[in-house]
Amino acid sequence: MAKKITLIPGDGIGPEVSLAMQRCVDATGVAIEWEIEHAGTDIMEKKGTPLPQEVLDSVRRNKVAIKGPVTTPVGSGFRSVNVALRKELDLYACLRPCKLYPGVKSRYENINLYIVRENTEDLYAGIEFEAKSAECEQLIEKIKQLNPKAAMHPNPAISIKPISEFGTRRIVKAAFETAIKNNRKKVTAVHKANIMKCTDGLFLRVAREVAKEYEGKIQFEERIVDNMCMQLVQYPNDYDVLVLPNLYGDILSDLCAGLIGGLGIAPGANIGDGIALFEATHGSAPKYKGLNKANPTAMILSSVLMLEYIGENKAAERLEEAVALVLKEGKSVTYDLKKDRNDPTAVGTSQFADAIIKALK
Ligand code: NAD
Repeated sequence: MAKKITLIPGDGIGPEVSLAMQRCVDATGVAIEWEIEHAGTDIMEKKGTPLPQEVLDSVRRNKVAIKGPVTTPVGSGFRSVNVALRKELDLYACLRPCKLYPGVKSRYENINLYIVRENTEDLYAGIEFEAKSAECEQLIEKIKQLNPKAAMHPNPAISIKPISEFGTRRIVKAAFETAIKNNRKKVTAVHKANIMKCTDGLFLRVAREVAKEYEGKIQFEERIVDNMCMQLVQYPNDYDVLVLPNLYGDILSDLCAGLIGGLGIAPGANIGDGIALFEATHGSAPKYKGLNKANPTAMILSSVLMLEYIGENKAAERLEEAVALVLKEGKSVTYDLKKDRNDPTAVGTSQFADAIIKALK
């Protein structure tokens, strides 16, 4: 019987890279019944919400979903659909393998990192207070009462950063389990506990506790986030699995995408208990919308993770091999993978997918 999977095409370049992915997955021969549900700016105009209830219902029902990127307005407008989905469905672990494939241009060699980002807490929890609002003024009063030394310039906006023992324990465990499952040797916890002694301090303390449970199996080390950024740029091969709170995880995911050829290549998975939503690291790149220009690799590699998750390991392996082959040849690839980004031999999104389908063994 066909496996039902929710497909959320997204907006911007989302529908194009989603279609390319869908065609590649179908070409593997795995029987999938795609349940297509729309979220993002386009559906917002029709339904008045960027995340209709049907989308959540469908993912809850099917337990497996894959989505294209969705635009989030900067500064004002609706909150992020991506953050809302992760929170609503408690998809607490964001897994982002960062692997450099032969043929892809990069300043580095043999990169094979694995980012494990916490997805539900931290400054992304959405607990924010607008400057000068009554709530913000009340909160400032309360903070001054609780901590008379709290120094703030007049009329600040405030975002709250909750980091809990529960949230930290499960993400660090997920990182160690990911390390075991993927034959990795080391987990590095990334933090800023020297400055944020309460929140990042808790993250680090719990990470050390969890690490003890894996002693002798997986090595553990810790890095302060600013140093980690420099280390990744200078010595990325010294690292293996990284576990990070939400914000640092978001930023370092893009940094690591830069090590392996750019956002067009970097896949991802958002995993909860018994539920999973797969998506590329990149956003909706609105300037390329409808141009058949965006690189579908990140989305296709996300579907490789999805196929593994549903137990279709052979199909996942075949699809990854086909992607790797096309990348290695470097002929039928999009502009971003060419030495010269204006190379006229670059192909479009759908022709890239055609080449991968042709390379499928
Ligand atoms: P972005 O990832 O959309 O694009 C940044 C740049 O990376 C692009 O200009 C393009 O040069 C390149 N790029 C990204 N994806 C590519 C691809 N598949 N092929 C080739 N080049 C690619 O980041 P942004 O511009 O900061 O964000 C645009 C929108 O996407 C924002 O609204 C943001 O909130 C949203 N976003 C969504 C998600 C998600 O849906 N999970 C993730 C990140 C950003």
